[in-house]
Amino acid sequence: MWDEFCQDLEPVSGSGELSDLQDKYLSRKRGLISLELRKLGALTPQERSEAGQQLNELKAQVQAALSERQAKFKEEERRLQLATERIDVTLPGYEAARGGIHPLRRVWRQMEEISVRMGFTVVSGPEIESDYYNFEALNIPKGHPARDDQDTLYLSDSLLLRTHTSPVQIRTMEKQDPPLKIVVPGRVYRRDATDATHSPMFHQMEGLVVDEGITLADLKGTLEVFLKELFSADTQVRFRPSYFPFVEPGAEVDISCIFCSGKGCRVCKSSGWIEIMGAGMVHSRVFEMVGYDWDKYTGFAWGMGIDRIAQLKYQVDDSRLFFENDIRFLRQF
Ligand SMILES: [Zn+2]
Repeated sequence: MWDEFCQDLEPVSGSGELSDLQDKYLSRKRGLISLELRKLGALTPQERSEAGQQLNELKAQVQAALSERQAKFKEEERRLQLATERIDVTLPGYEAARGGIHPLRRVWRQMEEISVRMGFTVVSGPEIESDYYNFEALNIPKGHPARDDQDTLYLSDSLLLRTHTSPVQIRTMEKQDPPLKIVVPGRVYRRDATDATHSPMFHQMEGLVVDEGITLADLKGTLEVFLKELFSADTQVRFRPSYFPFVEPGAEVDISCIFCSGKGCRVCKSSGWIEIMGAGMVHSRVFEMVGYDWDKYTGFAWGMGIDRIAQLKYQVDDSRLFFENDIRFLRQF
């Protein structure tokens, strides 16, 4: 039977087949050796002892052979596993995706940092405003044509989403006596259809300086320094007379085109200048509303769109890209 077993064992190539072979010879009910052992009862005591010893030796040999083969399979499996699951520690690791700062927030921060370096305090205020703070206190009474320019999103007869950051000027002046030097960055809302340069929500930064003896020259000097810091040292700044209800005199502020350095291009419509913000000396009517002595104090204010600055700085034609948050766009910053 040993020879037969050896013939059976030879072609066995896996643990499953080996288990079948073990059943064939050693299974308690049907195993060939078990069956032989059962036949011993019919023999004489002397024959039984001799045959029993032979069978037990055979059984031990078979078991040993099976165990040996089993061990060999295990070792092969392990070797295979090591070969296929080997880790090459010299390969570079996976790079973890890193987040970035949104381009609008980047410009927002830069504008804040420049202002803080120039001695301004950053303040904020509510986005839901009353008609009083958004319009009345800024010298825009009911029926004033300037209200039509700012398509307002009303929440009720007296509450609205602020159309500019200027209400925070009023709130700050009500709480604080001059001297005052603040900037107010924040979200503002208009009832505008979305296109390349309009959005119902955008960002502004407002500035306000109030003290004794503040003049238009201070306004010009401050904005020149600010804009040269924000764009570049060779940026030219010019002021054109304009009208805003809460300042007198008022001005539109232009910078020399950052794309063509004033030579004329598509962005500046060949003029060499880009309009960047509105500014002016604070209207005496506004000081009156907050209880400032307008014989004693003067001040200036300005406001600009953070989104517009970001569009110019990063040369983004369409402001919608800032809000769609397509990761392919944002990854460029
Ligand atoms: Zn240009």
